[in-house]
Amino acid sequence: MALINDFMSLIFPRHCEACANTLFKHEYYICNYCKVNLPHSNFHLNPDSALHRTFAGRIPIRNAGSYYIFEKSGKVQNLLHAIKYQNQKELAAHLGKLYALELTKHESFQAVDLIIPIPLHPKKLKARGFNQSEWFANGLGSGLNTLTNSQVMQRVVETSTQTRKKKYQRWENVENIFQLTNKSELENKHVLLVDDVITTGATLEAAWQALKEVDGISISIASIAFASMG
Ligand SMILES: [Zn+2]
Repeated sequence: MALINDFMSLIFPRHCEACANTLFKHEYYICNYCKVNLPHSNFHLNPDSALHRTFAGRIPIRNAGSYYIFEKSGKVQNLLHAIKYQNQKELAAHLGKLYALELTKHESFQAVDLIIPIPLHPKKLKARGFNQSEWFANGLGSGLNTLTNSQVMQRVVETSTQTRKKKYQRWENVENIFQLTNKSELENKHVLLVDDVITTGATLEAAWQALKEVDGISISIASIAFASMG
């Protein structure tokens, strides 16, 4: 079997999705150099991080983390591009597993009861074929040994909340984009809400508008990358 794998990688060399260098056979999706040197945010260790400040006064989070800092034209953008436009959903799950190895060291993420990925609108899901946030969430879930529930929250409005708008305009936009199918299932649970890229935080804020109706719920947040607006 090992011989076949070596033979296959001679014919079809596998490449790092971040830097495009050829992978060694023990490397998967990203090379060891990128695994160590991509810009890890470590926001989950800093309660005053740019990510935490993004949600201040908007979502009462327990903790928040992004695996990477997004840099335009950088290697992290290559990863996101591969996931979104080259159907590399397994890469999203792989990144989730890697990130879980870091998060699991922090007590706030050990106390997560349930993981909910930000859902795509059914039309968009049908067009893309998969939800990248769900695959990342599944990877996190296997690493954190926590169940992912991708049914309990649904996106009922197709509006993109990513467009750049002033804060007060955005507020008008975030209501009623998401609906819960089962509130009682979430009562008194610590939910880890998972998105692919966080920029303005508007999508997660919209999800919070639905989740805050649940008694005793508390929220932490995780994403693949954080893209600063500043
Ligand atoms: Zn690499």
